[in-house]
Amino acid sequence: MLPQIPNESPISIFWFRRDLRLADNAGLHHAFRSGNPVLPVFIFDKNILGKLEDKEDRRVEFIYHFIKKIKKALEDEGSTLLVLHDEPELAFEKIIAEYNIQSVYTNHDYEPYSIERDEKIRKFLIEKGVAFHTFKDQVVFERFEVIKPAGEAYTIFTPYSKTWKYKFHGRSFTEYKLEMDEFLITDPMPLPTMEDIGFKATGLKIEDPVIREDIIKTYHQTRDYPAQEGSTKLGVHLRFGTLSIRKLVKLAAKLNETFLNELIWREFFMSILYHHPRIVTESFKVQYDRIQWLNNPEDFKLWCEGQTGIPLVDAGMRELNATGHMHNRVRMVAASFLTKNLLIDWRWGEAYFAAKLLDYELASNNGNWQWASGTGCDAAPYFRVFNPETQQEKFDPEFKYIKQWIPEYGTKNYIKPMVDLEESRERCLATYQKTVGLA
Ligand SMILES: Cc1cc2nc3c(=O)[nH]c(=O)nc-3n(C[C@H](O)[C@H](O)[C@H](O)COP(=O)(O)OP(=O)(O)OC[C@H]3O[C@@H](n4cnc5c(N)ncnc54)[C@H](O)[C@@H]3O)c2cc1C
Repeated sequence: MLPQIPNESPISIFWFRRDLRLADNAGLHHAFRSGNPVLPVFIFDKNILGKLEDKEDRRVEFIYHFIKKIKKALEDEGSTLLVLHDEPELAFEKIIAEYNIQSVYTNHDYEPYSIERDEKIRKFLIEKGVAFHTFKDQVVFERFEVIKPAGEAYTIFTPYSKTWKYKFHGRSFTEYKLEMDEFLITDPMPLPTMEDIGFKATGLKIEDPVIREDIIKTYHQTRDYPAQEGSTKLGVHLRFGTLSIRKLVKLAAKLNETFLNELIWREFFMSILYHHPRIVTESFKVQYDRIQWLNNPEDFKLWCEGQTGIPLVDAGMRELNATGHMHNRVRMVAASFLTKNLLIDWRWGEAYFAAKLLDYELASNNGNWQWASGTGCDAAPYFRVFNPETQQEKFDPEFKYIKQWIPEYGTKNYIKPMVDLEESRERCLATYQKTVGLA
């Protein structure tokens, strides 16, 4: 049984997913225009949560925090948020059975699971005479908006970004207004606890998104230095929509081209995933799926634990394990080391990052792993094997980052390198060469 609402008049539903904010929310804005009071809903999706092995998952805690905040803001104004823990299809069966719903509003989601889920829900709602409206919200340009003149999707970043910028030029976004009096007035509804949904709090420190203009302005000079506060740490807020991408892109376009390019990479990888969903399991360049990976489980374990004896890799993996974050430069080095020096399948590394990263996002994670391993659409060439020592000399010259995460660095307690960097590089080149030779 769902909580009661005051009367039988028709209402609209707004379904929050990866857009966990009230302000400047496209789908929510359109729900306000429906002419009916809006009941917002969030579903802790059992299909997704059930697959998370670690029941102390920082991402679940992050979502929970913002759901609680949205609910409180709505309740302060006499409305509420319906929070369910269910499979989305079952949740909608219950919602439709209980309330007089005229239409459901939500924002587009481009991942294969979400596309399939939304299609099932659309069909179900239509059968029940309920309209299902979805809107673009998590990107500036989506699906078929940045494509080649002949209508194909781009697979190379530079022409994609040129077209993206051409389309963007001169565009201004008006913030979608929050209309609190359009929400359904009703009693507060219950909120399941973290334990009710099968998780435990981890004590993660969660803050509202803060856009640091000072960091964005100097981003091109500072972003590669892991010991500096040189990147925005907004990834998790973009991932869960606690920050509007339109707001950030507007600033990026004004303040820093390099930063804008990174936001375009994010949309590029989303476009790649949308047009080539097979990359979830396959290499973009199919011939690279013939690489003879060594896939040594003990080597993989050392990498996961930050016990490889390669300082920059270990520092990064330890940062990831301790915080859920890893600096981008170090992500590239750690991914190159795993796939090239250790010859471990990029899918193993991708899955580990997917389990640990607070800002985990399927399109960007997959795109960057395939980039680093050389298997992706616009990837680093296979013969570009990052040298973690040279990378450290350039980007952590005083070992500040390394010492922050490896307290025993420089003492006899720090382990010896698990592989010789030069020999493992040669082995990588020979292995990839065989595959590329077959292409
Ligand atoms: C192996 C590997 C795996 C990665 N996995 C993810 C992931 O799961 N989720 C994710 O959001 N990013 C991923 N990235 C990209 C990048 O490392 C992170 O976006 C960035 O480090 C997040 O830190 P930040 O929020 O301070 O970003 P900033 O450097 O301040 O950049 C701002 C935003 O731009 C976007 N961005 C920046 N760099 C990239 C990039 N290379 N590709 C796509 N978008 C980018 C992100 O949304 C980021 O939050 C991965 C990179 C590598 C090499």
